[in-house]
Amino acid sequence: MADGVLCRESVELSGRERSVLRSMAVRGTDPELYCELEAGHGHEHAAPVAVGQWWLRWWPGRRVLESAAGCAARSDDGVACRVPGGHEGGHRFEPAEADLVGERQ
Ligand SMILES: [Zn+2]
Ligand SMILES: [Zn+2]
Repeated sequence: MADGVLCRESVELSGRERSVLRSMAVRGTDPELYCELEAGHGHEHAAPVAVGQWWLRWWPGRRVLESAAGCAARSDDGVACRVPGGHEGGHRFEPAEADLVGERQ
């Protein structure tokens, strides 16, 4: 699945969602997010809001901002699936580029 094509559906955080994140002291969020599930998944998209911490899940007519526990799946090499538990589509074991540049302190 390392070369899987991603959905990349885009979504923007609403003002209310941004204020929730501010109140939770979540920083460095991008107002425009992209679904990181495997292309061709079901109705429920999921985009990382703060790497490894918060996710926006959305589907027609509904959206949920949540602090999600990770998927419990591990690759043969012991790499954790990087999308939230209960996600649609295949597991994703590769590190995202966002992780590599997202380590700002
Ligand atoms: Zn999607
Ligand atoms: Zn998974």
